[in-house]
Amino acid sequence: DAAHNFADVGALGLAIFARWLGRRPPTRRHTYGFRRAEVVAALINAAVLIAVSALIGREAVARFLNPAPPHSTVMLVAAAAALVANLASVALLHRHRAEDINVRSAFLHLAQDALASLAVFLAALLARTGIGPWVDPAVAVLIGLVVLRSAFSIVWEALNTLLEAAPADVPVEELASSVARRFSGVELHHLHVWEVGPGQRVLTAHMKTAVTSLPEAESIAAAVRGFLLKEWNIQHVTLEAEANGCGEKGLLGQWK
Ligand SMILES: [Zn+2]
Ligand SMILES: [Zn+2]
Repeated sequence: DAAHNFADVGALGLAIFARWLGRRPPTRRHTYGFRRAEVVAALINAAVLIAVSALIGREAVARFLNPAPPHSTVMLVAAAAALVANLASVALLHRHRAEDINVRSAFLHLAQDALASLAVFLAALLARTGIGPWVDPAVAVLIGLVVLRSAFSIVWEALNTLLEAAPADVPVEELASSVARRFSGVELHHLHVWEVGPGQRVLTAHMKTAVTSLPEAESIAAAVRGFLLKEWNIQHVTLEAEANGCGEKGLLGQWK
């Protein structure tokens, strides 16, 4: 249990540190800032949760095979206290939970703790009944499966961000055709969209236009940037204006 408390403090500390680091301004060395620290923290916290779930599952199987008689009164009081403490921390973080992957990962850890103490509480409550010894391991396995599902989805999302994937809600073909529909004569190619960290999206593209002067191209680029911010929530856009075209074919450009 002491080890578990240490893990709780570690998980929360990592999430808070990454959040603080992620909000620091860019430096000459780290020109993107430090947002991606939050993705790395989420990945570590989710990976630890997967390992913890596996350990809990193994323990639950052992208790199924060899159920221990619960010490009901002491356990009931201790479990109730732990449950209240865990629910309080879950409630504290709950309103932030949708915010970003880092907070979601920390929230999942606290939610797992709260559910685990709920399992112990129920087991203590039902200790005198016939199913008493089975409640704790059965609920532990159920919780483990739910937590695993969320933890794997966080790991998947974090790995995609680290691989510079386009955000899940930004299908690039659709983005390019939305620009073409909105601005006639404008065509994007050699397009890259990625996410530095939670809520910090970057796009670069070549922009073919029908205009021939730089001031005209500049004002079109400004309008396209405004459109991409408003419609696609992309904050940092770099467009290379083309009149004659670079000869590249295809949305994603040519890679060597
Ligand atoms: Zn820039
Ligand atoms: Zn081009």
